[in-house]
Amino acid sequence: MNIEAVRERIGRACAKAGRKQEEIQIVAVTKNVPVERIELAIQSGLDQIGESRIQESQGKFEALRPKFPAVVWHLIGHLQSNKISSALGMFDLIQSVDSLDLLKKISVRARNLGKVQDCLVEVKVSEEAAKTGLLPAEMERFLEEAGSLENVRLKGVLCMAPYFEDAERARPYFAKGREILEKYRDVWQVGEKCPVLSMGMSHDFEAAVQEGSSMVRIGAALFGERKLII
Ligand SMILES: *Cc1c(COP(=O)(O)O)cnc(C)c1O
Repeated sequence: MNIEAVRERIGRACAKAGRKQEEIQIVAVTKNVPVERIELAIQSGLDQIGESRIQESQGKFEALRPKFPAVVWHLIGHLQSNKISSALGMFDLIQSVDSLDLLKKISVRARNLGKVQDCLVEVKVSEEAAKTGLLPAEMERFLEEAGSLENVRLKGVLCMAPYFEDAERARPYFAKGREILEKYRDVWQVGEKCPVLSMGMSHDFEAAVQEGSSMVRIGAALFGERKLII
């Protein structure tokens, strides 16, 4: 595992941008990573896990939650309505809320379970990069309605840049994410804390950090390139 290498790279990006390293949280993306390796990662100090698919994460969650109750679980992939109840049982933060309809349904289920679910809104800052997510132009109406939902708490924004060989070219897209977070700064339900700006993956997290990311989601740079588990 390359945790130190990733931390050093984040540190260098922070230094360039005049930021503090503590401002950036690392979510270890463990899709296609077997539970034994995730356990090693947690023992090595990673305390936030990101998964894309409900079905895949269920067994991992059941194996790891009892052993490591303090680890924070993030859903970073598209959530289908019929999986909402399962998601509510596992994830501390649902980062991939990509429609008002989904947020409303999450709120209803959360109310039935007597909980308040933390969420991020996924915003499409580029047509190419994302199939899912809200357009910036849809944010106003989304947030207006979201404000009346009592069983969800919106804590910030997730976004993705298109893939560029030269990750520096992703910066304008991350800047757009930052701009949206700032534009609605009064909306995020974070109390005294800073809102969450989840952006940056293995190939572009330095660019994201320089543009203000507070949370990077990293798979390949920690665990190696993904291979399908057969
Ligand atoms: C897979 C995934 C990541 C991590 O990608 P890597 O290139 O492996 O770092 C981050 N965010 C989302 C939404 C993903 O699906």
